[in-house]
Amino acid sequence: MNLVIFGPPGAGKGTQSKFISKKYNLFQLSTGEILRNEIANKTPLGSEIASIINSGELVSNKIVSDLIENFISNKIYKNRLIFDGYPRNINQAMNLDNLLKKYNQKIDIVLKLSVGLNTIKKRILERQSQEKRADDSEEIAIKRYKTYENSIEPVINYYKKSNLLKVVNGETTIGEINGEISDLIEAIKGWH
Ligand code: AMP
Repeated sequence: MNLVIFGPPGAGKGTQSKFISKKYNLFQLSTGEILRNEIANKTPLGSEIASIINSGELVSNKIVSDLIENFISNKIYKNRLIFDGYPRNINQAMNLDNLLKKYNQKIDIVLKLSVGLNTIKKRILERQSQEKRADDSEEIAIKRYKTYENSIEPVINYYKKSNLLKVVNGETTIGEINGEISDLIEAIKGWH
């Protein structure tokens, strides 16, 4: 099973992806986390993207596409991927379908975590004090929320059309969201 999870920054994608990956033995492919590691490890790619990430903008489609292809093409992860933070715009959504097709795979479910801006601001400021992410200041958080809103609408419509989209209320507790997601996954025919 391959799964896409998306939602605004601070929606809980990372927390929920970690939970799903353990429970269903899947691999969490967080593009944001991989990109942050490149920066932390001071790789050439890391220095190229640091200022973009820290300003709340999106990295180029080509960079992220090459990155996810490394995982999609790897047999170890075949039909075991959680796309956490990809796709972020319609080109990426179409690219993901093409890449999966190239390696004989498909998306089985798309989860959208719905959370309003006020909750997002609160959560990101909490996370800022715990994780010290460079892009978690209030100003950049709002910028990231706007970046998300500006590009995600066509992605939502794209997945609605293909009947894969499930909307989950991301304002409830972590446990309640876990429960709702598990029910949705287990309702997929042949999910295991
Ligand atoms: P995230 O951890 O998902 O909030 O991602 C953190 C940052 O990484 C984003 O604000 C973008 O700058 C970059 N990023 C992550 N995923 C993507 C993507 N699919 N396309 C472009 N940029 C991305």
